[in-house]
Amino acid sequence: RTVYVNGDYVPEDQAQVSVFDRGFLMADGVYEVVSVLGGKLIDFDGHMVRLKRSLAELSITNPLTDEAFLTAHRELLTRNAITDGLVYLQVTRGNPGDRDFVYPPADTPPTLIMFTQAKPGLADAPAAKTGWSVVSVEDLRWGRRDIKTVQLLYPSMAKMEARARGADDAWMVEDGHVTEGTSNNAYIVKNGTIITRQLSHDILHGITRAAVLRFAREAQMKVEERPFTITEAQEADEAFITSASSFVMPVVRIDDAPIGGGKVGPVATRLREIYLEESLKLGV
Ligand code: PLP
Repeated sequence: RTVYVNGDYVPEDQAQVSVFDRGFLMADGVYEVVSVLGGKLIDFDGHMVRLKRSLAELSITNPLTDEAFLTAHRELLTRNAITDGLVYLQVTRGNPGDRDFVYPPADTPPTLIMFTQAKPGLADAPAAKTGWSVVSVEDLRWGRRDIKTVQLLYPSMAKMEARARGADDAWMVEDGHVTEGTSNNAYIVKNGTIITRQLSHDILHGITRAAVLRFAREAQMKVEERPFTITEAQEADEAFITSASSFVMPVVRIDDAPIGGGKVGPVATRLREIYLEESLKLGV
């Protein structure tokens, strides 16, 4: 693979970042993942808006203009011959030359790295027909989950716990209510109403979430943004998740309870179809 490091395109085994980079020492950095379908970057502008917000919240310098980010994305797709897959980008506060809790001077250049992941058939994931199973775990993350930081140890632990329990993912629970999945937003459907937690510091403001809720409302579906419990989810007609890499993915089991008889339901199926169709039209 050819990867991007601070303006250069280099073979992945030649890419270098300082051992003192605060991304490496302190998880002091943010990231974005944009999916690629048929060579098109899905909801690129949405991801750029969130990237700039994450950077601003942490006072990390934005290394590139949106236009330069787009050029770099396209260049990586071309060099790696990607038509279906993902582009990962990460901006960290950079390399102060030594380890220190105090931020380096504001003019310290941030570190920008980007790479691609090829995922042939990304939009035709067989799991979309059978659905995921999820387990509930306590949400032990920090209090600013709206900032897309590279501090992913707890979600990774939760994912491992899900795997150990034979499930596909974990839904995290705080004060009795579901926050979100390890790397996705969580939804249930009851009597035709789509229910998902409202935006706050407690969850990541999913770019796919925003698009799916917009498409749902345009299709005259009812949407309620509020917290829900695991019990309410287990008694729902349907459940699903959204993320840039999974789009809309049905959930058919939560802990020991099958949802909707353990079968993928019509609302999740329809939203997945609408999302894939509409977002392809909006891809750049
Ligand atoms: N929630 C968390 C914790 C995530 O890590 C992600 C994506 O990585 C999402 C939600 C979904 O966000 P998006 O739709 O922008 O991919």
